[in-house]
Amino acid sequence: MTQPPTSRPLAIVTGASRGIGRAIAVELAATGLHVAVNYKSNEEAARQTLALIDERGGTGTLCPFDVADEAAVKAALTDLFARHERVAVLVNNAGIVADGLFAMMPSADWHKVTETSLGGFFNVTKPVIQKMIPNKTGSVVSISSVSGLIGNRGQANYAAAKAGLMGATRALASEVARIGIRVNVVAPGIIDTDMTKDLPLDMLKKMIPMGRYGKPEEVARVVRFLCSDDASYITGQVISVNGGMV
Ligand code: NDP
Repeated sequence: MTQPPTSRPLAIVTGASRGIGRAIAVELAATGLHVAVNYKSNEEAARQTLALIDERGGTGTLCPFDVADEAAVKAALTDLFARHERVAVLVNNAGIVADGLFAMMPSADWHKVTETSLGGFFNVTKPVIQKMIPNKTGSVVSISSVSGLIGNRGQANYAAAKAGLMGATRALASEVARIGIRVNVVAPGIIDTDMTKDLPLDMLKKMIPMGRYGKPEEVARVVRFLCSDDASYITGQVISVNGGMV
């Protein structure tokens, strides 16, 4: 018999209305987790994610909040935690770009990119870790980027935020490893989503040894692995999914 949604362990996926986050939400729901589908403003797309989860026999809930707004995150998570005993998984996926050369970068572009990816990590992960600690189990995966490893030109803000996720992950992983909570990063290369649809495809493909963009599902399967017991001895790591780029 299928478990009712609220008794299933919960997975929270930020930025799950589109792209990589949607693929992760669908993948995790297929493992029996109830998925909180977070998004910022695109409710219609988030409902499509829920429909895909439903089609595959999974369950999920819409959970809108801006990851950069600590008070909004707190309110939404308090509500969610009241309905779910156990949070098994958090995937910090929400992220944005605002590219430009550093010397000309408006401070607003620096702040909005770092506050979404890295600020979002703090705002969401802290209450989730507090909820995971008494249960002595849980897995946190944050979606960084090849840009955080090599520092793409025109992405000082994004590279800083994505490299920051790696440092924060290593530190947090060492704090909670003995409690049974694992914390890892997945660093994708160039993945075919709304974020990359306007990039110069032919030029970028030459930089990728495999000669193609990745698919969101190829990232999602690695996240699913890291969240599973198959990855029970993996924590504090950065796993690249980039077609051989670095
Ligand atoms: P998309 O632009 O396709 O989707 C972004 C998602 O993040 C949407 O669901 C969006 O919600 C959500 N989001 C954006 N800002 C916020 C916010 N402040 N609060 C909550 N949700 C927010 O991105 P991708 O799927 O391409 O990227 C997902 C992650 O992967 C990002 O962190 C990105 O940096 C990273 N990444 C992407 C790569 C790529 O090539 N695509 C490569 C490497 C890393 P809404 O629909 O409501 O706007």
